[in-house]
Amino acid sequence: MRILITNDDGIAAPGLRTLVAAAREMGEVKVFAPDRERSACAHGMTMREPLRVSEALGLGVEAWAVSGLPADCVNMGRELGWPDGCDLVLSGINAGPNLGFDTTYSGTVAGAMEGCAYEMTSIALSLASLTPEIPLDWDACGAWLAAHLPALATVRLPRRTFLNVNVPALPADRVRGMKVAPLAERIYEERIERRDDPWGNPYFWQGGAVPMEHPQPGTDVDVVRQGFASVTPLSLDWTAHGELSALAAKLGIAPPSLLDARPELQTGPGGPPPQR
Ligand code: MN
Repeated sequence: MRILITNDDGIAAPGLRTLVAAAREMGEVKVFAPDRERSACAHGMTMREPLRVSEALGLGVEAWAVSGLPADCVNMGRELGWPDGCDLVLSGINAGPNLGFDTTYSGTVAGAMEGCAYEMTSIALSLASLTPEIPLDWDACGAWLAAHLPALATVRLPRRTFLNVNVPALPADRVRGMKVAPLAERIYEERIERRDDPWGNPYFWQGGAVPMEHPQPGTDVDVVRQGFASVTPLSLDWTAHGELSALAAKLGIAPPSLLDARPELQTGPGGPPPQR
């Protein structure tokens, strides 16, 4: 299996090293990762600056640091690393959760999104500590991944669909299993924090916290809180399909043609060849 790995925490991140170790058991791995941390860059891409690559040593596989974002890295990896095609794109392992609406900010998720856009089986992986006090145990996460990544990477999904996986920050033998779960609603409180510099001028940090006490039952946040790894199928198709006809009716225009709106061709290793 030909595997392309990226992340948004940068080429030096411990989660990248952990993911490489797990993925090497499954096939040939090439890494194209940002040359510095790029968390919360979402699906951005670099268009007004050149992209430069430099070889990164020490990961035990072919690895390149890219002066760009995760989506850039996937495209560089497709072009330079796997010009004849790639079977699997893995993005992560992110240092922290990518749950609920946070997936829309996530560069980790965007790396998998870009792979999915080009018809490759793609998985975003995050190590989810829901409170800052819990340390990230990469060895435990690596052990969990070694046992479960092969199944996740070979599951057959519809076209334009990829997986978002959050592993709870627990010892591997205390992770209670996997649960398929929809995204939670995660809305931040106190998003902007004002501080003053030594000269009395205000400046601002964007951060905030998400109330975690009462997650919606069955959502990704809820199952991770219960000690399960959450597995969420995400679609590149952001269309609110249920609203198509209703919106046309509200606008007084003809209803949309729904033919071919949801192609069901399966992709993935062992599946039919992808159509481009
Ligand atoms: Mn990150």
